[in-house]
Amino acid sequence: MSGKGKEKVYFLAATDEEEDSRLCERLQQLLAAENLLGCIADQDITAVKTHFGESLKLGFARPLYLRMLGEAVKERGGLPFLTETSTLYKGNRSDAIRHINHAHRQGFDHAATGMPIIMADGLFGDEEVAVPVPGSPHSPVHIAALFAKCNALVMVSHFTGHLLAGFGATIKNLGMGCASRKGKMSQHSTAKPKIIKKNCIGCGICVEWCPKEAVTLQDGVAQIAANRCIGCGQCLAMCRFGAVKFNWGATCEDLQQKIVEHACGVANLFQGKSLYLNILTRISKDCDCMGQTYEKIVPDIGILVCRDPVALDAASLDLVEERAELQLSRLAYDIPYRFQLEYAKKLSFGSLDYELIAC
Ligand code: SF4
Ligand code: SF4
Repeated sequence: MSGKGKEKVYFLAATDEEEDSRLCERLQQLLAAENLLGCIADQDITAVKTHFGESLKLGFARPLYLRMLGEAVKERGGLPFLTETSTLYKGNRSDAIRHINHAHRQGFDHAATGMPIIMADGLFGDEEVAVPVPGSPHSPVHIAALFAKCNALVMVSHFTGHLLAGFGATIKNLGMGCASRKGKMSQHSTAKPKIIKKNCIGCGICVEWCPKEAVTLQDGVAQIAANRCIGCGQCLAMCRFGAVKFNWGATCEDLQQKIVEHACGVANLFQGKSLYLNILTRISKDCDCMGQTYEKIVPDIGILVCRDPVALDAASLDLVEERAELQLSRLAYDIPYRFQLEYAKKLSFGSLDYELIAC
């Protein structure tokens, strides 16, 4: 994916007023005009990976985009299915049954998308394959087993801020979103929060939101049981009193490094057989795993499409900052969010040298 000159990133601009249906039509025309799904061959088992969002979250990629993509894959003779993996924490998406039921409630049923949902990591998130990643200190990485059996991948990611990775888009969807439970655990292994006692007012919001019941109130102050904590960062996102802190220096670079390595492992399975799309509308400070209703941090930008996940995320991030006229650290979390792109380049996973093609 790298080393061959500038990667083409196709860009469909949109405004806050543009309906998803119109944007989807324009995307369909772009895919056809540029033959962007030309990598799909007759009978290719094609994983169409997205994120179904949490219950109240409004920012995820809408089902109509998935339907259009599924139909486009079928027109090429491919056999598409929608896929996802289980979350580490308990909730709507922690195993295949809950996750598929949740996806249906979010509008991703067969009637809406024309595709079945098949979980890539099995019933409990533990069906995995070890994939070597050249140059990675953590190789092999553990990814959901089904990806190794598919012929092609179409990935639709929603760009958001992210409290541990800085931002989440295609690299994060590949790295965390396609990892098995073990792979996800390894990515979160150094992300542990601490409570700043003098700031804690004992409101209990973090206790309510912690997915692993790792936080308790003791004498009116939050305490975290390190052995239960999975480093998801929900407590940090929900505390309004600055009482939860992560050691960002160690945490976010380690996490981003492992996300990139897992992403590289997945992408390498689909060399020349993949297409990646980033949706840059309804962009929020937090990712689509968070349950709260989103607030836009930047006006809608549009959709970007590329064969190189790294070039795609680099172009997306640049456009977000250009549109906001602010660095992402001012819009979301003040952490070194470009680390994931720089590390991806170092790993020869993809290119940061892109050509933006407005369509
Ligand atoms: S949300 Fe913040 S202030 Fe409230 S109990 Fe938790 S750490 Fe303390
Ligand atoms: S990071 Fe916070 S919310 Fe997540 S498991 Fe640990 S204590 Fe709970």
